[in-house]
Amino acid sequence: SNRLQDKIALITGAAKGIGFATAQRFSKEGAKVMIADLSNEAVNAAVEQVPNAEGCVMNVTDRASIQMAVDQIMERHGRIDILINNAGITKDARLIKMTEAQFDDVIDVNLKGVFNCTQLVVPHMLTAGSGAIVNASSVVGIYGNFGQTNYSATKFGVIGFTKTWARELGPKGIRVNAVCPGFIATEMVTAMPENILQEIEKRSWLGRLGTPAEIANAYLFLASDEASYVNGIALEASGGISL
Ligand code: NAD
Repeated sequence: SNRLQDKIALITGAAKGIGFATAQRFSKEGAKVMIADLSNEAVNAAVEQVPNAEGCVMNVTDRASIQMAVDQIMERHGRIDILINNAGITKDARLIKMTEAQFDDVIDVNLKGVFNCTQLVVPHMLTAGSGAIVNASSVVGIYGNFGQTNYSATKFGVIGFTKTWARELGPKGIRVNAVCPGFIATEMVTAMPENILQEIEKRSWLGRLGTPAEIANAYLFLASDEASYVNGIALEASGGISL
Protein backbone atom coordinates (compact mmCIF):
# COMPACT_ATOMS: atom_id res chain seq x y z
CA SER A 1 0.00 0.00 0.00
CA ASN A 2 0.93 3.69 -0.36
CA ARG A 3 2.70 3.13 -3.65
CA LEU A 4 0.88 6.19 -5.02
CA GLN A 5 0.68 8.23 -1.82
CA ASP A 6 -0.95 11.65 -2.50
CA LYS A 7 -0.60 11.34 -6.27
CA ILE A 8 -3.31 12.98 -8.35
CA ALA A 9 -4.43 10.37 -10.90
CA LEU A 10 -6.87 11.07 -13.73
CA ILE A 11 -8.43 7.89 -15.15
CA THR A 12 -10.70 8.11 -18.19
CA GLY A 13 -13.59 5.66 -18.60
CA ALA A 14 -13.30 4.88 -14.89
CA ALA A 15 -16.98 4.39 -14.05
CA LYS A 16 -16.80 0.66 -14.77
CA GLY A 17 -14.71 -2.24 -15.98
CA ILE A 18 -10.91 -2.01 -15.97
CA GLY A 19 -10.95 1.76 -15.34
CA PHE A 20 -13.06 1.33 -12.23
CA ALA A 21 -10.85 -1.49 -10.92
CA THR A 22 -7.85 0.76 -11.51
CA ALA A 23 -9.52 3.62 -9.63
CA GLN A 24 -10.17 1.27 -6.69
CA ARG A 25 -6.59 -0.01 -6.70
CA PHE A 26 -5.01 3.45 -7.02
CA SER A 27 -7.17 4.70 -4.15
CA LYS A 28 -5.96 1.82 -1.95
CA GLU A 29 -2.41 2.87 -2.77
CA GLY A 30 -3.02 6.37 -1.46
CA ALA A 31 -3.79 8.24 -4.69
CA LYS A 32 -6.48 10.86 -5.10
CA VAL A 33 -8.40 9.48 -8.04
CA MET A 34 -10.23 11.61 -10.59
CA ILE A 35 -12.90 9.34 -12.06
CA ALA A 36 -13.74 10.59 -15.56
CA ASP A 37 -16.62 9.16 -17.56
CA LEU A 38 -19.50 10.11 -19.83
CA SER A 39 -22.46 10.63 -17.50
CA ASN A 40 -23.03 12.30 -14.18
CA GLU A 41 -24.92 9.25 -12.88
CA ALA A 42 -22.18 6.79 -13.75
CA VAL A 43 -19.45 9.04 -12.36
CA ASN A 44 -21.29 9.69 -9.10
CA ALA A 45 -22.08 6.00 -8.57
CA ALA A 46 -18.39 5.16 -9.01
CA VAL A 47 -17.13 8.02 -6.82
CA GLU A 48 -19.34 6.81 -3.97
CA GLN A 49 -17.60 3.44 -3.98
CA VAL A 50 -14.01 4.69 -4.07
CA PRO A 51 -12.45 6.49 -1.08
CA ASN A 52 -10.57 9.67 -1.99
CA ALA A 53 -12.18 9.86 -5.43
CA GLU A 54 -13.64 12.84 -7.24
CA GLY A 55 -15.76 12.84 -10.38
CA CYS A 56 -15.26 14.51 -13.75
CA VAL A 57 -17.90 14.28 -16.43
CA MET A 58 -16.08 14.24 -19.74
CA ASN A 59 -16.25 12.80 -23.19
CA VAL A 60 -12.77 12.09 -24.53
CA THR A 61 -13.98 13.07 -28.01
CA ASP A 62 -14.98 16.55 -26.78
CA ARG A 63 -11.94 18.70 -26.09
CA ALA A 64 -13.94 21.41 -24.31
CA SER A 65 -15.23 18.87 -21.77
CA ILE A 66 -11.69 17.57 -21.16
CA GLN A 67 -10.33 21.10 -20.76
CA MET A 68 -13.03 21.90 -18.21
CA ALA A 69 -12.21 18.82 -16.16
CA VAL A 70 -8.45 19.47 -16.34
CA ASP A 71 -8.95 23.11 -15.28
CA GLN A 72 -11.07 21.99 -12.35
CA ILE A 73 -8.48 19.44 -11.18
CA MET A 74 -5.71 22.05 -11.49
CA GLU A 75 -7.74 24.53 -9.47
CA ARG A 76 -8.38 22.02 -6.68
CA HIS A 77 -5.10 20.13 -6.58
CA GLY A 78 -2.55 22.13 -8.55
CA ARG A 79 -1.20 19.17 -10.50
CA ILE A 80 -1.94 15.95 -12.37
CA ASP A 81 0.71 13.31 -11.66
CA ILE A 82 -0.79 10.34 -13.49
CA LEU A 83 -2.98 10.06 -16.59
CA ILE A 84 -4.54 6.70 -17.42
CA ASN A 85 -6.03 6.83 -20.92
CA ASN A 86 -8.43 3.95 -20.42
CA ALA A 87 -11.72 4.99 -22.10
CA GLY A 88 -12.48 2.76 -25.05
CA ILE A 89 -15.30 1.22 -27.08
CA THR A 90 -15.83 -1.53 -29.64
CA LYS A 91 -18.07 -1.53 -32.72
CA ASP A 92 -17.16 -4.80 -34.35
CA ALA A 93 -17.87 -5.93 -37.90
CA ARG A 94 -15.94 -7.68 -40.62
CA LEU A 95 -14.24 -5.34 -43.08
CA ILE A 96 -16.88 -5.95 -45.74
CA LYS A 97 -19.74 -5.07 -43.40
CA MET A 98 -18.21 -2.29 -41.31
CA THR A 99 -20.02 1.02 -41.71
CA GLU A 100 -18.16 4.31 -41.94
CA ALA A 101 -19.87 5.37 -38.69
CA GLN A 102 -18.60 2.24 -36.88
CA PHE A 103 -15.12 2.97 -38.13
CA ASP A 104 -15.18 6.67 -37.23
CA ASP A 105 -16.72 6.23 -33.77
CA VAL A 106 -14.06 3.80 -32.61
CA ILE A 107 -11.21 5.91 -34.04
CA ASP A 108 -12.68 9.01 -32.35
CA VAL A 109 -12.82 7.50 -28.86
CA ASN A 110 -9.94 5.01 -28.74
CA LEU A 111 -7.36 6.87 -30.81
CA LYS A 112 -8.19 10.56 -31.03
CA GLY A 113 -9.52 10.50 -27.46
CA VAL A 114 -6.10 9.43 -26.20
CA PHE A 115 -4.49 12.22 -28.23
CA ASN A 116 -7.00 14.77 -26.89
CA CYS A 117 -6.58 13.90 -23.22
CA THR A 118 -2.82 13.61 -23.38
CA GLN A 119 -2.39 16.87 -25.25
CA LEU A 120 -4.52 18.75 -22.70
CA VAL A 121 -2.90 17.19 -19.60
CA VAL A 122 0.77 17.19 -20.65
CA PRO A 123 1.35 20.97 -20.39
CA HIS A 124 0.76 20.67 -16.64
CA MET A 125 3.13 17.71 -16.37
CA LEU A 126 5.75 19.71 -18.29
CA THR A 127 5.39 22.56 -15.80
CA ALA A 128 5.86 20.08 -12.95
CA GLY A 129 8.76 18.38 -14.74
CA SER A 130 7.30 14.95 -13.95
CA GLY A 131 4.43 12.65 -14.75
CA ALA A 132 3.40 9.15 -15.75
CA ILE A 133 1.02 8.35 -18.59
CA VAL A 134 -0.33 4.88 -19.27
CA ASN A 135 -2.41 4.13 -22.35
CA ALA A 136 -4.89 1.30 -22.93
CA SER A 137 -3.76 -0.77 -25.88
CA SER A 138 -4.64 -4.47 -26.23
CA VAL A 139 -3.21 -7.76 -27.45
CA VAL A 140 -5.33 -6.94 -30.49
CA GLY A 141 -2.92 -4.00 -30.97
CA ILE A 142 -0.13 -6.58 -31.32
CA TYR A 143 -1.66 -9.25 -33.56
CA GLY A 144 -5.00 -7.88 -34.91
CA ASN A 145 -8.37 -9.58 -34.55
CA PHE A 146 -11.11 -10.94 -36.76
CA GLY A 147 -13.98 -8.42 -36.91
CA GLN A 148 -11.97 -5.56 -35.40
CA THR A 149 -10.57 -3.51 -38.29
CA ASN A 150 -11.36 -0.27 -36.47
CA TYR A 151 -10.53 -1.37 -32.91
CA SER A 152 -7.26 -3.13 -33.69
CA ALA A 153 -6.08 -0.13 -35.74
CA THR A 154 -6.68 2.12 -32.71
CA LYS A 155 -4.81 -0.24 -30.39
CA PHE A 156 -1.82 -0.46 -32.77
CA GLY A 157 -2.05 3.35 -32.98
CA VAL A 158 -1.95 3.73 -29.22
CA ILE A 159 1.35 1.83 -29.17
CA GLY A 160 2.61 4.29 -31.79
CA PHE A 161 1.57 7.20 -29.56
CA THR A 162 3.26 5.55 -26.59
CA LYS A 163 6.62 5.10 -28.30
CA THR A 164 6.53 8.58 -29.84
CA TRP A 165 5.59 10.36 -26.61
CA ALA A 166 8.13 8.30 -24.65
CA ARG A 167 10.77 9.91 -26.87
CA GLU A 168 9.29 13.43 -26.82
CA LEU A 169 8.42 13.56 -23.12
CA GLY A 170 11.00 11.24 -21.51
CA PRO A 171 13.65 13.96 -21.55
CA LYS A 172 11.17 16.20 -19.69
CA GLY A 173 10.66 13.71 -16.86
CA ILE A 174 7.39 12.23 -18.12
CA ARG A 175 7.23 8.46 -18.68
CA VAL A 176 4.74 7.05 -21.21
CA ASN A 177 3.83 3.37 -21.38
CA ALA A 178 0.96 1.16 -22.56
CA VAL A 179 -0.82 -1.88 -21.19
CA CYS A 180 -1.98 -4.61 -23.58
CA PRO A 181 -4.66 -6.62 -21.80
CA GLY A 182 -5.74 -9.94 -23.20
CA PHE A 183 -9.39 -10.86 -22.78
CA ILE A 184 -10.68 -9.51 -19.49
CA ALA A 185 -14.07 -10.29 -17.93
CA THR A 186 -15.79 -6.92 -18.40
CA GLU A 187 -18.99 -6.05 -20.26
CA MET A 188 -16.92 -5.43 -23.39
CA VAL A 189 -15.91 -9.10 -23.45
CA THR A 190 -18.70 -10.97 -21.67
CA ALA A 191 -21.05 -9.63 -24.37
CA MET A 192 -19.28 -11.96 -26.81
CA PRO A 193 -20.91 -15.29 -27.82
CA GLU A 194 -20.28 -18.15 -25.36
CA ASN A 195 -18.49 -20.38 -27.90
CA ILE A 196 -16.02 -17.62 -28.79
CA LEU A 197 -15.38 -16.97 -25.08
CA GLN A 198 -14.59 -20.65 -24.54
CA GLU A 199 -12.21 -20.58 -27.49
CA ILE A 200 -10.44 -17.54 -26.01
CA GLU A 201 -10.11 -19.20 -22.61
CA LYS A 202 -8.44 -22.17 -24.28
CA ARG A 203 -6.01 -19.95 -26.20
CA SER A 204 -4.76 -18.16 -23.10
CA TRP A 205 -2.03 -20.30 -21.52
CA LEU A 206 -3.55 -19.70 -18.10
CA GLY A 207 -6.81 -21.22 -19.38
CA ARG A 208 -9.10 -18.39 -18.28
CA LEU A 209 -10.09 -14.78 -18.86
CA GLY A 210 -8.29 -12.10 -16.86
CA THR A 211 -9.93 -9.96 -14.19
CA PRO A 212 -10.08 -6.15 -14.16
CA ALA A 213 -8.06 -6.20 -10.93
CA GLU A 214 -5.21 -8.01 -12.69
CA ILE A 215 -5.04 -5.26 -15.30
CA ALA A 216 -5.25 -2.61 -12.57
CA ASN A 217 -2.04 -4.13 -11.15
CA ALA A 218 -0.27 -3.56 -14.47
CA TYR A 219 -1.43 0.07 -14.50
CA LEU A 220 -0.28 0.45 -10.91
CA PHE A 221 3.23 -0.78 -11.67
CA LEU A 222 3.69 1.48 -14.70
CA ALA A 223 2.17 4.53 -12.96
CA SER A 224 4.26 4.08 -9.80
CA ASP A 225 7.87 5.03 -9.07
CA GLU A 226 8.70 1.32 -9.16
CA ALA A 227 8.67 1.75 -12.93
CA SER A 228 10.92 4.82 -12.77
CA TYR A 229 13.22 3.48 -15.52
CA VAL A 230 10.43 2.01 -17.67
CA ASN A 231 9.52 4.20 -20.64
CA GLY A 232 7.88 3.43 -24.00
CA ILE A 233 6.91 -0.18 -23.35
CA ALA A 234 3.71 -2.05 -24.16
CA LEU A 235 3.21 -4.42 -21.23
CA GLU A 236 1.14 -7.44 -22.20
CA ALA A 237 -1.08 -8.90 -19.48
CA SER A 238 -2.92 -11.69 -21.22
CA GLY A 239 -2.00 -15.00 -19.67
CA GLY A 240 0.34 -15.43 -22.63
CA ILE A 241 -2.33 -15.47 -25.33
CA SER A 242 0.05 -14.12 -27.99
CA LEU A 243 2.60 -16.92 -27.47
P1 NAD B 1 -15.96 -1.04 -20.35
O1 NAD B 1 -16.88 -0.93 -21.49
O2 NAD B 1 -16.28 -1.96 -19.22
O3 NAD B 1 -15.69 0.42 -19.73
C1 NAD B 1 -15.31 1.48 -20.55
C2 NAD B 1 -15.69 2.79 -19.89
O4 NAD B 1 -15.29 3.85 -20.78
C3 NAD B 1 -17.20 2.93 -19.66
O5 NAD B 1 -17.44 3.37 -18.35
C4 NAD B 1 -17.60 3.98 -20.69
O6 NAD B 1 -18.69 4.80 -20.29
C5 NAD B 1 -16.33 4.80 -20.83
N1 NAD B 1 -16.29 5.54 -22.10
C6 NAD B 1 -16.65 5.09 -23.33
N2 NAD B 1 -16.56 6.07 -24.23
C7 NAD B 1 -16.12 7.18 -23.56
C8 NAD B 1 -15.86 8.51 -23.95
N3 NAD B 1 -16.03 8.91 -25.22
N4 NAD B 1 -15.43 9.38 -23.02
C9 NAD B 1 -15.28 8.99 -21.72
N5 NAD B 1 -15.53 7.74 -21.30
C10 NAD B 1 -15.95 6.84 -22.20
O7 NAD B 1 -14.54 -1.41 -21.01
P2 NAD B 1 -13.29 -2.21 -20.40
O8 NAD B 1 -13.41 -3.61 -20.84
O9 NAD B 1 -13.10 -1.90 -18.98
O10 NAD B 1 -12.10 -1.58 -21.27
C11 NAD B 1 -11.35 -0.46 -20.83
C12 NAD B 1 -10.20 -0.23 -21.80
O11 NAD B 1 -9.39 -1.40 -21.87
C13 NAD B 1 -10.64 0.07 -23.22
O12 NAD B 1 -9.77 1.01 -23.81
C14 NAD B 1 -10.50 -1.27 -23.89
O13 NAD B 1 -10.33 -1.13 -25.28
C15 NAD B 1 -9.28 -1.81 -23.21
N6 NAD B 1 -9.18 -3.27 -23.29
C16 NAD B 1 -10.15 -4.05 -22.75
C17 NAD B 1 -10.03 -5.43 -22.86
C18 NAD B 1 -11.03 -6.38 -22.29
O14 NAD B 1 -10.88 -7.57 -22.50
N7 NAD B 1 -12.06 -5.93 -21.58
C19 NAD B 1 -8.93 -5.98 -23.51
C20 NAD B 1 -7.97 -5.15 -24.04
C21 NAD B 1 -8.11 -3.79 -23.92
